[in-house]
Amino acid sequence: MSVLVAVAAMGLFSCSNTQENVENKEVKTSTVELKEVTSPAEAIARLQEGNARYASDSAVNPHDNHMRIDETAPKQTPFCAVVACSDSRVPVEHIFDQGIGDIFVIRTAGNSVNDDVVMGSVDYAIEHLKVKSVVVMGHESCGGVTGAITEKEEAVENSKVDELLSVIRNDVRPYYGQKDSLDAAIRLNTNKQVERILANPEVKKLVEEGKLSVVGAYYNVHTGKVDF
Ligand SMILES: [Zn+2]
Repeated sequence: MSVLVAVAAMGLFSCSNTQENVENKEVKTSTVELKEVTSPAEAIARLQEGNARYASDSAVNPHDNHMRIDETAPKQTPFCAVVACSDSRVPVEHIFDQGIGDIFVIRTAGNSVNDDVVMGSVDYAIEHLKVKSVVVMGHESCGGVTGAITEKEEAVENSKVDELLSVIRNDVRPYYGQKDSLDAAIRLNTNKQVERILANPEVKKLVEEGKLSVVGAYYNVHTGKVDF
């Protein structure tokens, strides 16, 4: 596959419609090109460009039409994987202005990969889908990390929430009981997951060979911006 052009709206708007707002939209969408990603650096660049559009209210919502559904139906070839929090304010494809078939998304409360099912999902993306980058994205005001650094309340019977928080708590132990250090705890939690993914020698090897990157990121729920 050569070049994928992100002109989701173009086919609809390029005919004879002369309304001003439609023309503006056409100009905006036709300037964005989604090139095929062939390296970790290109994967991160594409995410950064998409996030810049999103955060400046210029998202073009690429790859979000039936043509793309048809194109990706036989096989998925996402260029990256993103491990993010389940928090409803962290919709990954929106944040990076990507669409169907672009990102292999793994979301859990607190974006921890300290679980076989979650880590298995990451490894699947690397080994089978050959993604060029794995991004672990923590976010501002994360409830999972907040719960993990907050002194324990009595657990609700038959609920697994306490178990979840214990898993995250192990990674942010230095900040336990320090609510003011939430942001530092969120960043530490992200770094721990990156380390955990890189602890797999096969993954480490791909990184050393320049075929893959595993990076941490931080999403600001106020600005919509992602820092890598
Ligand atoms: Zn969260």
